[in-house]
Amino acid sequence: MSQEPIHILSLGAGVQSSTLALMAARGEVGPMPTAAIFADTQAEPQSVYRWLDWLETQLPFPVYRVTAGSLTDSSLKRHRNQKTGKPYYANLIPAFAKNSDGTAGLLGRTCTYRHKLIPILKKLRELAKIKRGQKTLGVISWIGISLDEVSRMKPSRDKWAQNRWPLIEKDMTRHDCLRWIEKNGYPKPPRSACTYCPFHSDHEWRALKADSPDEFQSAVDFERALQRTHASVKTEGKRQSAPFLHNSMVPLDEIDFSEDTTQGNLHFHNECEGMCGV
Ligand code: SF4
Repeated sequence: MSQEPIHILSLGAGVQSSTLALMAARGEVGPMPTAAIFADTQAEPQSVYRWLDWLETQLPFPVYRVTAGSLTDSSLKRHRNQKTGKPYYANLIPAFAKNSDGTAGLLGRTCTYRHKLIPILKKLRELAKIKRGQKTLGVISWIGISLDEVSRMKPSRDKWAQNRWPLIEKDMTRHDCLRWIEKNGYPKPPRSACTYCPFHSDHEWRALKADSPDEFQSAVDFERALQRTHASVKTEGKRQSAPFLHNSMVPLDEIDFSEDTTQGNLHFHNECEGMCGV
């Protein structure tokens, strides 16, 4: 007899996935999920961890916190090629790169995949008891993407999992989520993203600097450390690049955030696989 797939919510702990979790808790979206999974990069602002602690008390299903380790540590790690012995670094976060030949670009981004998607998939397999090579459906994975982010919808790459976007089924935008939260008397969720995410808009950098100066300073320190890591690895025959967290490619602590520049979080709409920022 084939078993029914279990429903699991990917909880980013931002506005949309938190709204979805609370709607499920109130029976406004069904069936009741078996659990939620939060993938912790260990680099979220304290406001997100506090929110998650509170949110857990509101939900009738468990929230599993999973992690692939500290994104900060893995971003700053120098590796060594086993064959050649040469040092190298792994590009994880989508930093802006100023190249030694004067060109500019965006460094390859693998943080969402390595630090969010992989630990979530591992936990999904464990919860649904997915066997190696399984082709039958074992999990319905709920993702809190809203109607205004429809371009981020992507089907599951695994046959045993099927993605579902309940907010889109309900025609809900991010603004609708905030209205639902307010109407039901809940506190406003924070925006979830690593404190130093280069996808921050100027508005978000400004708020971080004003409301959490310690976390802003840790982003400044992280940017310097990332630059030191890159500078310490000589890329023979290739362009040397210096990473920056802001698209102006000016050090974070030298930027005047009193006026918006062109940087915005539209990158999340275009490039995120649905686990960051929701
Ligand atoms: S919030 Fe930004 S830095 Fe953090 S995992 Fe997502 S894309 Fe990467």
